[in-house]
Amino acid sequence: MNRPDPTTRIRATPGCRALISGASVAGPALAFWLNRYGYQVTVVEKARTIRSGGYPIDVRGTALEVVRRMGLLPRLRDAHIDLRRVTFLAEDGGEIASLDPHAVTGGVEGRDLEVRRGDLTDALYAAARDDVEFLFDDSIDTLDQSGPEVDVTFRGGGRRTFDMVFGADGVHSRTRELVLGPEDEFHRYLGYCFAVFSMRNTFGLARETVMWNSPGRAAALYAAGDNDEVHAFLNFAQPEPPSGLFSNPQAQRDLVASVFTDAGWEVPGLLAAMRDADDVFFDAVTQIRLPRWSSGKVALVGDAAYAPSFLTGQGTSLALVGAYMLAGSLADREHTAGFDAYERTTRDFVTANQDLAGKGGATLFPTTAQELEQRNSRLRSLSFLPPSGGRPAHSALVLPEFPH
Ligand SMILES: Cc1cc2nc3c(=O)[nH]c(=O)nc-3n(C[C@H](O)[C@H](O)[C@H](O)COP(=O)(O)OP(=O)(O)OC[C@H]3O[C@@H](n4cnc5c(N)ncnc54)[C@H](O)[C@@H]3O)c2cc1C
Repeated sequence: MNRPDPTTRIRATPGCRALISGASVAGPALAFWLNRYGYQVTVVEKARTIRSGGYPIDVRGTALEVVRRMGLLPRLRDAHIDLRRVTFLAEDGGEIASLDPHAVTGGVEGRDLEVRRGDLTDALYAAARDDVEFLFDDSIDTLDQSGPEVDVTFRGGGRRTFDMVFGADGVHSRTRELVLGPEDEFHRYLGYCFAVFSMRNTFGLARETVMWNSPGRAAALYAAGDNDEVHAFLNFAQPEPPSGLFSNPQAQRDLVASVFTDAGWEVPGLLAAMRDADDVFFDAVTQIRLPRWSSGKVALVGDAAYAPSFLTGQGTSLALVGAYMLAGSLADREHTAGFDAYERTTRDFVTANQDLAGKGGATLFPTTAQELEQRNSRLRSLSFLPPSGGRPAHSALVLPEFPH
């Protein structure tokens, strides 16, 4: 049988078949825009459904323009959490400073958004679902790019062919592993691990964050609303990534409990709640830095390509901007030129935002007593305030209009 030339380039003509792995932020946003440009889009998500609820995330700077162009700004403004204050506590639980949250995050009051991750994901899904095929409870098993198209097998047993495949499957992306190799080669460990989980709000907190620190340890409670639930967050310095722990939830809990064993304030109550919580999420604080965001007819977007870590607060915004730029770069180009254009136009913006992590780590989570005291002095004097107008990296890309 004659097979077509494998180097044949796929041009983004209407009906070009795209498969996206992951339906959180980057996946549905990319699906929406590719569909706009005439692609026939399928999204495969390993979870049974779109995950609602979840911790709060920020949409700032250039990413606000992406959601505005998607028509989602009014809905997201309604979901805005409008956090009132962040209070920092000393090791003995005494108050160091209580600040406007924007002073800490570099956000811009009245413009930037903070919403529950699920509220954003719901909005993105609603914008795409009428025109895009979503396959839940399934995932890519194998990808074969040796022919002119990409042959895909699914864990659920299906087998299909696409013109391009996109990995929007997060920091531990399986798509990235399939086309570029193991994560170890690309992750930059930032020296911390964390656990997040929800617990009852017995603290009377409402639309605020309280953070306790000792050198190398932080415990925070985040009340996104006025209701009965808070998000608890335990972050700690760990010189080496605890690689053996990622498939062992009990060992994760044990490690966190041992690190915080003698901690004061409300930490013993947080540890007790962690033992009973059914939504504990544990991970290392890492970035993904790739020399190239694509390989053949497969490209990566969002955390899968360039996770910046929560220290920057920019993961969601990078995912939204990256999805817009990737789809737009493919609006009138074949895949090789499109993927090149995506990198050329977006990489500086991504790097500027990833580079915020150095400052964020030292600022929020000092590891020595001296650094902690210096941070506390800055908090007390409010010299910590960023210049008004937010951090320049957040808005460092002016979104182009792409041909429709
Ligand atoms: C505790 C915490 C706090 C954070 N705080 C902030 C913040 O304040 N501000 C901010 O901007 N960002 C924050 N982030 C980061 C933010 O959540 C991510 O950067 C953002 O969600 C990236 O979106 P994404 O779509 O690229 O990846 P993800 O949101 O990770 O989504 C990946 C999707 O792919 C799916 N998936 C994974 N593997 C497969 C597979 N093999 N097959 C099919 N589907 C798969 C997953 O189920 C998921 O739906 C935080 C992250 C954490 C963990």
